[in-house]
Amino acid sequence: MYKITLNEKDTPKKWYNIAADLPVEFPEYSQTDEGKQLENLPKIFSKGVLGQELSTDRWIEIPKLVRNVYKQIGRPSPLFRAKGLEAHLDTPAKIFYKREDMSPTGSHKLNTAIAQAYYAKEDGAERLTTETGAGQWGTALSLACSLLDMDCTVYMVKISFKQKPYRKTIMHLYNGEILPSPSDRTEFGKKILKEDPQHPGSLGIAISEAIEDALNDEKVYYSLGSVLNHVMLHQTIIGQEIQMQMNKIDATPDVMIGCVGGGSNFAGSTFPFIKDKLSGDLDCEFIAVEPSSCPTLTKGEYKYDFGDTAGLTPLIKMYTLGHDFIPPSVHAGGLRYHGMSPLVALLTHEKIIEPRSVSQTSVFESNKLFAQTEGVVPAPETGHAIKVGIDEAIKCRKTGEEKNIIINFSGHGLLDLQGYDDFLEGKIKD
Ligand SMILES: *Cc1c(COP(=O)(O)O)cnc(C)c1O
Repeated sequence: MYKITLNEKDTPKKWYNIAADLPVEFPEYSQTDEGKQLENLPKIFSKGVLGQELSTDRWIEIPKLVRNVYKQIGRPSPLFRAKGLEAHLDTPAKIFYKREDMSPTGSHKLNTAIAQAYYAKEDGAERLTTETGAGQWGTALSLACSLLDMDCTVYMVKISFKQKPYRKTIMHLYNGEILPSPSDRTEFGKKILKEDPQHPGSLGIAISEAIEDALNDEKVYYSLGSVLNHVMLHQTIIGQEIQMQMNKIDATPDVMIGCVGGGSNFAGSTFPFIKDKLSGDLDCEFIAVEPSSCPTLTKGEYKYDFGDTAGLTPLIKMYTLGHDFIPPSVHAGGLRYHGMSPLVALLTHEKIIEPRSVSQTSVFESNKLFAQTEGVVPAPETGHAIKVGIDEAIKCRKTGEEKNIIINFSGHGLLDLQGYDDFLEGKIKD
């Protein structure tokens, strides 16, 4: 069997909230003495998502309309067996990959974009603002807003804005407004541009601009595509579907792997399984993979830091490279973030999640092999998980273990062809 599918009616009805099952207490958000970061939260987030951010209820009902839009975009997504890759690697391991690339925007990000747009609209907002790095998140939120009849403004990291012109086209098709960040739309953007008109931008700066925009208008909320607890929550439909799919073949995972930028696709695919690990019902390894050029989990410090550059977000306890960290411009733009989901960070600190970092060239090599043996061109971000999946399968060849390895296939790379061109021409360096 190559593909394990579910029916539309199997689309999960609840999100799983791991805050109910943590092995240690969640470190509360905090603020600076002079700051208003916590008071500002209700001005930038809808009541719906803010309630979820702090909730400790184990299961949270998915509103009917959100569940219907999940079906509209093709959920549940299939789980594929990578038999071509297995044969090439000559491994006794079984490699599975969860096809989050099959959503209309090509990644997992719509899972939370739809929910966030729904709650913002329910709360009277007319427009959402956000940041985007590689463009996946801006694309997803533009479509979600279009489906729910809202406006959307996307601050896109300037270097990506230049590198990925087709992202802009898709966002425009979905009626999103796109501004290269730093922009002259906000005070913070203007300040950065005054210091350096050629500034390439960063996710931290784009977040600051999007929050400032939302703070200045009552009818506008801000939306974050990763990191925060409610985003991890919305993504847990991925892992719940994988559970049903593995049940169908009477199997359980031995290793689960996902790439991490802010942690949401990793969290979404693994948290329902981590629940079983924490209760002693499952023996499985969980590996979070990041680029060696932005090594938040493997080299960062576990401490309180801001989520953005201007310091408008609350202080969050997470692994961080520092909120003014400007990462090198690697092609896996979705993984260039200085911080990490505090939930993923906590579970890494507790040694339930194992972090690993891999080099950019090894990622492109793995992706080429994956494309040649499975047909699907992975996003550069997704390639981080594939690289480690291949490493684990090769280990099984040596030990003879028939492990079940599940890779969360977070997105396709059909809009990242410049990166692939650079790789094929030998221009990619680590
Ligand atoms: C955004 C993105 C990521 C990184 O974000 P997470 O929140 O860590 O999941 C990974 N893969 C793809 C395809 C993305 O679009």
